[in-house]
Amino acid sequence: MSADPKNHPAAPAANFIRNIVEADLAAGKFASRRWGGQPGPAQTHAAAPLDTAKIRTRFPPEPNGYLHYGHAKSICLNFGLARDFGGVCHLRFDDTNPEKEEKEFADSIIDAVRWLGFDWQENLYHASYYFDWMFQFAEYLIESGHAYVDSQSADEIRANRGTPTEAGRNSPYRERSREENLDLFRRMKVGEFPDGSHILRAKIDMASPNFNLRDPAIYRIRHATHHNTGDQWCVYPMYTYAHPIEDALENITHSICTLEFEDQRPFYDWLLERLAEGGLLLRPLPQQIEFSRLNLNHVVLSKRKLIQLVEEKHVAGWDDPRLPTLIGARRRGYTPQGFRLFAERIGVSKSDSWIDMSVLEDCMREDLNERAQRRMAVLDPLKLIIDNYPHGQEEECFAPNHPQQPELGKRAMKFSRELWIEREDFMEVPTKGYFRLFPGNSVRLRYGFVVKCTGSDKDADGKISAVHCEYIPDSKSGGPGADSYKVKGNLHWVSAAHAYAAEVRLYDRLFAAPKPGADERDFLLDLNPNSKQVITAYLEAALQQAQPEECFQFERHGYFVADRIDSRPGVPVFNRTVTLRDSWGKTQA
Ligand code: ATP
Ligand code: MG
Repeated sequence: MSADPKNHPAAPAANFIRNIVEADLAAGKFASRRWGGQPGPAQTHAAAPLDTAKIRTRFPPEPNGYLHYGHAKSICLNFGLARDFGGVCHLRFDDTNPEKEEKEFADSIIDAVRWLGFDWQENLYHASYYFDWMFQFAEYLIESGHAYVDSQSADEIRANRGTPTEAGRNSPYRERSREENLDLFRRMKVGEFPDGSHILRAKIDMASPNFNLRDPAIYRIRHATHHNTGDQWCVYPMYTYAHPIEDALENITHSICTLEFEDQRPFYDWLLERLAEGGLLLRPLPQQIEFSRLNLNHVVLSKRKLIQLVEEKHVAGWDDPRLPTLIGARRRGYTPQGFRLFAERIGVSKSDSWIDMSVLEDCMREDLNERAQRRMAVLDPLKLIIDNYPHGQEEECFAPNHPQQPELGKRAMKFSRELWIEREDFMEVPTKGYFRLFPGNSVRLRYGFVVKCTGSDKDADGKISAVHCEYIPDSKSGGPGADSYKVKGNLHWVSAAHAYAAEVRLYDRLFAAPKPGADERDFLLDLNPNSKQVITAYLEAALQQAQPEECFQFERHGYFVADRIDSRPGVPVFNRTVTLRDSWGKTQA
């Protein structure tokens, strides 16, 4: 991991999860790892090395989609804890569901976690790797009277579940003998029964106030081909059964998940307790800890909605810079350091809250302000003609690459008779307080000369087509006479003959509404129609050499990145990452 002292505070802010970890380490909780009872299969097969004293966390995505900003919070939390407490964080593909997973997603998850700056070392796992153990553990649950095969239909099971105020009814199959259960379960495994004809359920309590303890399903029949295990299995474990076992087999110490799993925790603990009692797992058992998921304004983070945006072509693909995916963020020019700073800044808690997009944008600005060299770019060009500058003459002006980092040196920019300036930097009739170009007024062309405006040309429609001025030859920035000219305006410019005309994409927030789709409204109605604007801008010549993913501050405009997909050598295309200041409310009102 790259260490970046600024974005990586030496002492990260305390939060309730850190407190738990600190207390566990202080108490030496993991130093005493031992078998829960009689040694069982896990003893010889435990997936992860059994180093004591260390914490182990995990990031367990299902490889059925691209990671988004919410996952970044979870990644920074899990890998960040491991980093800060000298532990290890596993990357685990939760691929227990046979029909869904795709390699394309798994590869992109690997890239995204690495891009964020984290490393799982040798600890890359697949949940499907544990199918044998999961099956053996289920057999143990049957043998010890903690599980049974239910042969009710799905409708009957639903009808007998009860309601929040009313206990459920026991299945008529609940008291099957162990032998019968075991026989049925083994025949389920080899494919003797059709999908849905039987399920394996944990035998807990049909009257529990917690629905998750009303004999939850743990295995279902599914005649499906799994991407990893092929046709070997005709039964697959339920997520709620598989996940705790995955954690335990990997010796995970703190299993951190989002709040919607809070009601699952009693089952998580029940299951692992039963297996540890049977000597199948090590103690101490992993502890599930819930935190509130990231909710961010002006985007959607639900997988279903992201798929819809891509499939219905509201965006250009999974890596569209407006989409809150991590591959989109990367293309947009958001930085890993910015995400880590964001994760640190928003912290973790148990209360559901919404974070404003401007918090994320500010983190990106903060990071880019350090990292990005300055360049000049004119986005809405208007010709400026310096009538007293000789035709065909050119000279160099020198501009610092970074105002706070003089060690980065200066670059040369060509100055000539015709320049591009921003259209908004000229007014024929100035409004009050306007101190840029208007007839009779003088401004400095940044890092160049002081010029005095003499007039303008109009085209047939009455639109300003060029501005005229005269320059003061001894006013050049850095020259001996520079200080004798005091002017208020300081405009950026590029030489028309030398500029690089580039495609620039001005990205803005994908949704105009802070909470897209709130109050049952179709979230697509909240799309921001101006979230992407493609222009041709005039950039200072040096930018033509920009490498893909190189980021810059275009002075007065914001941070821009050379697109990593569409740029060609010598023909970079730029994406606006973020404006210099938060201008959202002002421009949209
Ligand atoms: P699914 O609906 O398919 O489960 P998911 O977004 O939860 O979608 P997973 O691949 O299961 O996707 O997520 C991996 C991990 O990322 C989980 O541990 C989950 O808790 C965490 N995670 C997902 N969304 C967020 C979010 N908005 N904020 C924080 N963590 C999240
Ligand atoms: Mg999930």
